[in-house]
Amino acid sequence: MDYRRNIAVLGSTGSIGRQTLDIIAEYPEKFKAWLLVANNSADLLIEQALKTLPYAVVIGNDNLYQKVKDALATTDVKVYAGAKAIAELVTYPEVDTVVTAMVGYSGLESTIAAIGAGKKIALANKETLVVAGELITRMLETSPSVLYPVDSEHGAFYQCLVGERHEDIEKLILTASGGPFRNTPIEQLASVTAGDALKHPNWSMGAKITIDSATMMNKGFEMIEAKWLFGVESERIEIVVHPQSIVHSMVEFKDGSVKAQLGLPDMHLPIRYALGLPGNRLATSERKMTLCDYANLTFEKPDFNKFPLLNTAYEAARRGGNIPCVMNAANEIAVAAFLKGKIGFNDIYKTINRTIDWASFIEVPTYEDYVESNKVARDFATSLIK
Ligand code: MG
Repeated sequence: MDYRRNIAVLGSTGSIGRQTLDIIAEYPEKFKAWLLVANNSADLLIEQALKTLPYAVVIGNDNLYQKVKDALATTDVKVYAGAKAIAELVTYPEVDTVVTAMVGYSGLESTIAAIGAGKKIALANKETLVVAGELITRMLETSPSVLYPVDSEHGAFYQCLVGERHEDIEKLILTASGGPFRNTPIEQLASVTAGDALKHPNWSMGAKITIDSATMMNKGFEMIEAKWLFGVESERIEIVVHPQSIVHSMVEFKDGSVKAQLGLPDMHLPIRYALGLPGNRLATSERKMTLCDYANLTFEKPDFNKFPLLNTAYEAARRGGNIPCVMNAANEIAVAAFLKGKIGFNDIYKTINRTIDWASFIEVPTYEDYVESNKVARDFATSLIK
């Protein structure tokens, strides 16, 4: 009898996906990579499949199907293409946990399918909750499915809240590294390039999230993610800049006590915690933290003038409905344009704010409303860039 838990890794070729496969390989007696999904990185997907021999792989881009199929012809690995196949495979009874590590809005459909099928979800795709937190939360109320955060800050909140009562929470204190432009004077931001933004001081991450970190949109997303994961209103979620990224986040309780979770800034740590849930810490021989190496842990208030997307995110959280979805859609378009050198750094927030101003508000969106809001917001944001 095989007691290993089958893991579906959506976005296996990205930064979180690759690190998830590291953790699966670290505990071969506990986990098996059962499904690997990539969008375009066919070569790496093939390499991963040959190494881990999952039940199936899905390549998002149809044009790459034949290449992947041919490369895996000598194995038993099944090969599929397209979003429909992902949404179907995650519902298979063999699947225990779905790690959602794809980028952006594209994570929504398969996450909803996995919740519908009652799977454990290790949520790395924060955009899912930013876009459709209300809908996901409603679905979870009637599903045996659970969301375990992979985001390091949310893993920290989760750990701080073990054994605590919800009504005892005073506030969530979300730490932020401050990104590569923490010390850049505001007047220089107009001329920074994608290359400058991609030099993140602490965390090694994919390109999209690294730009989100540079604009602090990422922290705005994480604030909204925390609101839905822990049922705490945005007014009670405070962002604190902590450049060393050792305190991964904190919770303040109503008696004045503050609990923090600390660790090295290494995504293996929160992934290991999320895959161990419920209840099991997975022992590791990887390097542990020596607190004396970090004698100076500093904390400061974020600069909302320099990073106006923090205001945008709080305002979007307050309005709710489809506004966070619109914000996310415009951000995806603007970040892609910035990475291609088509727009400047400050055009990212301008594109997002103009798209939100233009969008029509839907207070209680259905799934179809989110799909439509995402589409029209992307089209509008694209029209601003050309
Ligand atoms: Mg994070």
